[in-house]
Amino acid sequence: MTVGRRMRGERGLMQNTAIPNDRIAYIRAGIVNTLIDPLILRLDITGWPQRWIPWQHAVILDAREMIAWTAGERTFTFHGGINRLSGRRSRITVNSIIAVRGDAHNGGDERLVPPLSNRELFLRDEHLCMYCGRQFPGNLLTRDHLVPLSRGGVDCWSNVVAACRGCNHSKGSRTPDEAGMSLLAVPYVPNRAEYLVLSNRRILADQMEFLRKRFRRTSRLRAG
Ligand SMILES: [Zn+2]
Repeated sequence: MTVGRRMRGERGLMQNTAIPNDRIAYIRAGIVNTLIDPLILRLDITGWPQRWIPWQHAVILDAREMIAWTAGERTFTFHGGINRLSGRRSRITVNSIIAVRGDAHNGGDERLVPPLSNRELFLRDEHLCMYCGRQFPGNLLTRDHLVPLSRGGVDCWSNVVAACRGCNHSKGSRTPDEAGMSLLAVPYVPNRAEYLVLSNRRILADQMEFLRKRFRRTSRLRAG
């Protein structure tokens, strides 16, 4: 992949230059050593979290002057190639949390329901079977539909829970009430901030703090 960049000459950076990804060396400033490929938290201009983006995308947004403001405590400085004209090495510093111009309510709307996948579902339910309460690795859990699909149930966050194979089999094509099985917790639809936490294992402390403030008041993730 090539990162195409157009940069202003007065900044002493390369102009109209495409920098191959593999030639972008970067240093890490103030981050843990094991973190070599940081994900940047992208917000809309109102501050509502949208999604995780690779640092390369943040570099492009910065070069296009699309970053309105930043909110993170961590910064990453990336070094590119040497400018033929100035002889200087290009350098861009990216913040761990960036607000991007011009895209408010586009994908960041709180009402948007995040996509349902087993990985995030099992994390939401803390890898516990919601019937027997035992903890399982993801490959031993299943997606149980409270109202079974065969009975008109919907494949959505509020109708699914993590269940071990044994409990799912015992329940069969019945509702929990019909099967006489009680749920440990009521399933919920994660809001955007909660979903972003569920979908990224490499969250920086400042990003976590930012997102945690936007969890629902009753979120089980608050305890995590
Ligand atoms: Zn179980």
